Amino acid sequence: MQRYGVRIRVIAPDAGDVEELVARDGVLGFRLSIAARKACCEVRKVRPLARALAGAAVWITGLRRQQSAGRSEVAFAAWDDAHRLVKVNPLADWPLDRLQAYVAAHDIPVNPLHARGFPSIGCQPCTRAIGPDEDVRAGRWWWEQEDGKECGLHNSPRRRGTEAVA
Ligand code: SF4
Repeated sequence: MQRYGVRIRVIAPDAGDVEELVARDGVLGFRLSIAARKACCEVRKVRPLARALAGAAVWITGLRRQQSAGRSEVAFAAWDDAHRLVKVNPLADWPLDRLQAYVAAHDIPVNPLHARGFPSIGCQPCTRAIGPDEDVRAGRWWWEQEDGKECGLHNSPRRRGTEAVA
C-alpha cells in the first residue's frame, strides 16, 4: 500500500451469514461436499465481492488463460452480467514465464508462499503446496475430484469471440 500510494478497501464477510453457515455446516463444513464448499465460498467470497463491486463500472482482474482449463478462453474484456459491469483481464494471454520476468524486472512484491510451492493461493484450510509435476491449481480444494474447480468469484469468464468487449 505504502509503496504504491494506494488505499486498500477491506471487505469482510457478513457476520450473520457466517454464523448461519457455521451453525448449519460446522466450522469445517466445507469439507463435507462440493455443495457445502460452494456455500462457504458464497458467504465468505462471492457475497463480499458483490458488495465490493456494487456500483462499479469496471472490474480489473489478474486472470490468465494459462491458470486452468476453465480459464483457457478468458477474454481481455467482456460484459459481466452477474455484476453489471465490464470485466477486464489485462494479463489474459500472459504465460507464467512472462509474468515472472515482469515481476523480477520491476521488483514487484509477491506473496512469499509462491516460492514455497503455492502457485495458487486461496483460504488457508483450502490450499496446500503442490509438487513439481502437479497442475498449478491442484492445491486448491484438493480433496475434490471435480474439474474446473472455482470458488465462484470468476464463474462466468466470457469466451473469446462471443461477448468479448475487446
Ligand atoms: S476457499 Fe474454503 S474456507 Fe475459503 S470460502 Fe471457499 S470453502 Fe470457505
